[in-house]
Amino acid sequence: MSTITTTTAGMAGELFPKKEIRYCPVCGSQGFMPLRSSETSGETSFIRKYHCAVCGFEFFMNAAASTMALIIKDDQQVLMIRRARDPARGSLDLPGGFVDLGESAEHAMIREVYEETNLSVTSHILYPRTFCNEYLYGGVLYHTLDLVYICEVDDWANLRSNDPEEGSIELVRLDELTPQQVGLTSVRRFITEYLETRSRTTSG
Ligand SMILES: [Zn+2]
Repeated sequence: MSTITTTTAGMAGELFPKKEIRYCPVCGSQGFMPLRSSETSGETSFIRKYHCAVCGFEFFMNAAASTMALIIKDDQQVLMIRRARDPARGSLDLPGGFVDLGESAEHAMIREVYEETNLSVTSHILYPRTFCNEYLYGGVLYHTLDLVYICEVDDWANLRSNDPEEGSIELVRLDELTPQQVGLTSVRRFITEYLETRSRTTSG
């Protein structure tokens, strides 16, 4: 089982938007300057907004909201996707994806689960922590804020991929799953937490 590494904060953190945004989109001047979040010790500072010194236009940089669904079958297996595309191609991932503009996070999660697995989510609860990720796609580094939902589904007999180009479905035994098999940083952090909590509750 190979270990998959992804980008880390700071290393690729300047790819977007600093490389791409150089001119004010309103007046076209070159005085479009990034303003950083206040630096805290040990943490990477990110560009918070751009400000045009010529016309005063401001453009704020925000994380994209993304979702992932934890769906357990028979208390033994977790529903995962083997990623067919970069980033982290070939690694395991949870079903889920980006929240569209104007869409709620839970709607995005339910939509993505159906698109990827043909399963209908019947109930879900929001995990009490969120996770940051950097998602390199098409040369642009997107910063995401990931929400996790613990879900139940209607009928496992419906399980099939509706979008094979995104990846293949795998039911992975929880006692065989390791965080190293998971490529995306935020998903790996959640899986690490989940497996640790599960081993504490099942062994104690
Ligand atoms: Zn301007």
